[in-house]
Amino acid sequence: MNTAVVLYTSDLRLHDHPPLRAAQSSSDRVVPLFVRDRAVDAAGFAAPNRLAFLADCLADLDAGLRERGGRLVIRSGDVVDEVTALVEEADADEVHMAAGVSAYAHAREERMRTALEARGRRLYVHDTVVTAVAPGAVLPSSSGADHFAVFTPYLRRWTELPPRAVAAAPRLVRVPEDVRSEEVPRRSDVSGTSPGLARGGETLARRLLTNWLRSGVRSYEEIHDDLAADATSRFSPHLHFGTLSPTEVVHRCAGAPGPGADAFVRQLCWRDFHHQVLAARPGAARLDYRPRRDAWRTGPAAEEEIRAWKEGRTGYPVVDAAMRQLRHEGWMHNRARLLAASFLTKTLYVDWRVGARHFLDLLVDGDVANNQLNWQWVAGTGTDTRPNRVLNPVRQGLRYDPEGRYVHRWVPELAGLAAPGVHEPWRLPEAERAAYDYPPPLVDLADGLDRFRRGRSGDVS
Ligand code: FAD
Repeated sequence: MNTAVVLYTSDLRLHDHPPLRAAQSSSDRVVPLFVRDRAVDAAGFAAPNRLAFLADCLADLDAGLRERGGRLVIRSGDVVDEVTALVEEADADEVHMAAGVSAYAHAREERMRTALEARGRRLYVHDTVVTAVAPGAVLPSSSGADHFAVFTPYLRRWTELPPRAVAAAPRLVRVPEDVRSEEVPRRSDVSGTSPGLARGGETLARRLLTNWLRSGVRSYEEIHDDLAADATSRFSPHLHFGTLSPTEVVHRCAGAPGPGADAFVRQLCWRDFHHQVLAARPGAARLDYRPRRDAWRTGPAAEEEIRAWKEGRTGYPVVDAAMRQLRHEGWMHNRARLLAASFLTKTLYVDWRVGARHFLDLLVDGDVANNQLNWQWVAGTGTDTRPNRVLNPVRQGLRYDPEGRYVHRWVPELAGLAAPGVHEPWRLPEAERAAYDYPPPLVDLADGLDRFRRGRSGDVS
């Protein structure tokens, strides 16, 4: 009897799963395996919100496998050691896994291949599991570059490439009985999570997708930037943990009614875009993709401002609302991420890595490709073709939260203040201002702009 191991990483689903499908077609039995990887934890990725969401995903995957006659095998330790030990235990001939894009994923794959080949076993790495289009599958035709550095031409080529067919979920999964597993972790075992954290798991993700295609996506184009409407899909944690397949989402959007689906699929393309940048430039997780000779602010004054930004007390209501949503839900609206990141990097003129680290500590969808490269995009060290644009938090508030409902929801101290004034509480007469327990602006916007411009040109005092 042939046996194959399917190593799950950020692809925790049964539907549209090429590694599982390939393993099932080549082998009589499979061992679906998840390794709680020590190295990933040590690198600071074991943040409570993601661990709790992960626990939901693993429990749901185990339940789905059990409905099909199988189960999930869970181990902890070094991922290569665990896989090679399991291959020996189960006498497996091959291992299937999804391709990743980070430097760590590349190194893991290489170590795994070497270790398995030394034991006469084979590793099969499948693309289009984590992204809809594989990194490198489309390349700029004229320049000879190894990735697209600008989104619009990438989108054009990405759209022309038909996504692969969706793979059906297996009906039956035969797992060898004598393979030991640790217990499936429980969400309730994780402490320090955000009170409004979403639930994970493929079953829920698929329900969200069906509902979204039936009703949400139709109006996506008009209202996705409206902060208070909260009318985006909230698929990001499901795409991050792979409980939704990006390929399947793209296919199913093709049949969705109304113009919203095109705008929505364009956002999925942004996700693939950042993944292909990181796959080609893994160092961009830490280093400036396009160095601008920034002299970022440091020292006690900057530290105090960073603290205020993290706590949501900058004195700019829409920025504070964004930062408080992050803390409460472990998630933030895209427009809010843009303006909170612009405020840190271009108004406070603080290094994007400080903000990216804070986001990774809290975001349930926190993801090296999307987080680091979006931070770089906003900071102007990434792929934005207008690197010095600065988002004005007052104008952004007036435009994307015109009734002030987003601010009222997350900054209750200002709930009694109507729009448009709620976006500029410092303009209230002194006596009225005292009625609100809310701080004055951390920095004047013109002063912030001035220090950004001087810092970026190397003239910081
Ligand atoms: P929708 O608007 O419903 O979009 C659908 C999907 O498209 C999203 O789930 C996401 O997978 C993808 N998407 C949308 N916008 C982007 C984008 N700008 N870049 C890449 N993919 C996108 N997204 C993450 O998944 N993880 C992160 O760690 C992350 N960090 C970010 C940090 C900053 C500073 C910024 C500006 C953006 C970041 N994003 C990140 C991108 C984006 O904000 C989120 O994907 C989006 O807000 C998730 O909400 P949604 O699922 O409702 O999105």
